[in-house]
Amino acid sequence: MIRTVVWLRSLVALAVAGAAVSRAAADAEPGHKAAHGGCLNALGTCENGHAEVRVDGARLELWFVGGGTDTQRAVRIPDPQIALTVTLPGAPEPRVVVLTATPNELAEEKTGDCSHFAGEAEWLRTARTFTAQGKVTFRGRPQDLRIEYPGGYDPDEETGGEPLKAAAPGGQGAKAAEPAR
Ligand SMILES: [Zn+2]
Repeated sequence: MIRTVVWLRSLVALAVAGAAVSRAAADAEPGHKAAHGGCLNALGTCENGHAEVRVDGARLELWFVGGGTDTQRAVRIPDPQIALTVTLPGAPEPRVVVLTATPNELAEEKTGDCSHFAGEAEWLRTARTFTAQGKVTFRGRPQDLRIEYPGGYDPDEETGGEPLKAAAPGGQGAKAAEPAR
């Protein structure tokens, strides 16, 4: 009897945890993982590549990674900077945060051949959800960058401009607990 109750409870706990995970990861395909604990944003299509975005306090970090299930692989880009135009819910005007190439020297990256970018803005501290746009030279051609934070952007799951509802309480804390690299 007691055993049954415990078993049922753990089933419920599993179901709740599962729901939280699928909300946090916009891309639910197996093996389609964010390597740095951020959210994956497809670059045009999922097969092409992704920008993984994580916000920690005032700092926004972005990593360019591969397409499909190859999201653990860094993709280097030549741009030294990326200007992101960020739209916050309810804000009258978009804001801009400039991300600068932040080379992973252990991987022999350098500015102009770099997969990691970072920038800071005080208003990011209170930004729980936002959309952002920018331009990037990815795989040798200029491409549009579209970010939906914290749910991630997946063109196969077009939600009609309301992706921000996906923000779950506690999602931020879970992300902050990830190790830095
Ligand atoms: Zn994807």
